[in-house]
Amino acid sequence: MPDDKVKIPKNQQFQTPKGVHDILPEDHDYFTYIKKVVRHRARQAGFRRISTPMFEFTDVFKRSIGEASDIVTKEMYTFPDQKGRSLTLKPESTAGVVRSYLQNNLNQWPQPVLLYYIEPHFRYDRPQKGRYRQFWQFGFEIIGETDPALDAQLIQLAMKIYEDLGINDFFSLQLNTIGTPESRKKYMQVLQDYYAGKERSLCEDCKYRLDKNPMRLLDCKAEDCQILASLAPKMTDYLDKESVEHYAELKGYLDEIGIEYTENAKLVRGLDYYTKTVFEFWDKTEGAQNAIGGGGRYDGLVELMGGQPTPAVGFAAGMERIIANMKREKIRVPKKDELHVFVAQLGIEAKKKCLPLIDEMRDAGLKTMGALGKGAINIQLKLADKFKAPYAVLIGITEVRERTAIIRDMKRGVQEKVNFDQITDRLLELIGEENLDKYHPGELLY
Ligand code: AMP
Repeated sequence: MPDDKVKIPKNQQFQTPKGVHDILPEDHDYFTYIKKVVRHRARQAGFRRISTPMFEFTDVFKRSIGEASDIVTKEMYTFPDQKGRSLTLKPESTAGVVRSYLQNNLNQWPQPVLLYYIEPHFRYDRPQKGRYRQFWQFGFEIIGETDPALDAQLIQLAMKIYEDLGINDFFSLQLNTIGTPESRKKYMQVLQDYYAGKERSLCEDCKYRLDKNPMRLLDCKAEDCQILASLAPKMTDYLDKESVEHYAELKGYLDEIGIEYTENAKLVRGLDYYTKTVFEFWDKTEGAQNAIGGGGRYDGLVELMGGQPTPAVGFAAGMERIIANMKREKIRVPKKDELHVFVAQLGIEAKKKCLPLIDEMRDAGLKTMGALGKGAINIQLKLADKFKAPYAVLIGITEVRERTAIIRDMKRGVQEKVNFDQITDRLLELIGEENLDKYHPGELLY
């Protein structure tokens, strides 16, 4: 409904709100390609797709991501519905997936449950290069298994996808463990003791975090905070036996499958629900600023959300950042929507003939566009050129009388006359079976 009060001055157009953007057809070629790779790799590894709603009750995120996290304190799009209930656009998907796992009794499925998603997310982040307020992520969740072999497999799956997309060389895997909640509790106390008396050197955010989640001080980007963090006690000195063993086993598996990693004791990730393994893929030159993905283990989350204790591990990657990398490296993706044929006609009788013909050609897998307006043939041919159709079919008054059509090779500028009922077959020959865009009813096209 248009809002009467909003008056748009003449010559001024609406713009998108800050931090969000349209996905135009050229970018959709990238999105489509990435989605295909993700679906292919997910299916190979036994993952099934899930979509959770764009919004959830705010508590789903508060409870899981953590009251003191940046996302919950600063970045959520939260609004009341008509009945005053607090709802939030999803800033990430793990919380919703776990909510869904419990709500739909997925714990009755054979465990572990392997799920993947490809979804938009919303965060009130400060917009800048590679940081938007609506952005797409694909991600994987493995719920119901504690073995570090699964952490390794998940990391390998992420690497495979980056490799398929041609960008794996630009990122380094940063790896850390933040231990079990028990060992973390001890470490957080040690950190608070270390920072006691140093509060004045901390940025405003870290002053607040110190009380709520002191581990976040380790990955703060402010210069003074970084200096203090580099001298802080290390988590690895406070790990319990279970965490040490899990981490050692994980590294062993990564070595076994030949995945290089950099151990990074300051990597903590911003969300409260992580336990033990955390990892991120950092840009080799820009570091964490331009990470293309990250994840970790969240063994306590299912229980925190009201379920039985259930271990889990997950990963998410940012699609806009992947596309930016692919474009920078001039990695081309298939363009599936280029036309094959442009149909030009003259006169009402020709137009009548063209409608069923276009339908027949499309059904045969030829991407066909018909200029069914009133323009002269030469104007329509110019259009065929602009739309980059390799072939044009011309039907004028003479052709209708003769029951023929002219097929014009637009690149070479040569043309041939064919009988009307042979047009489609001849074009199929010219375009080639392998290039057709065929829809086979019954075959799933997703
Ligand atoms: P996170 O779980 O927050 O580390 O997000 C996982 C990945 O999503 C990041 O590594 C980024 O590639 C991407 N991402 C996160 N926030 C944004 C954002 N505001 N804009 C674009 N991409 C983002």
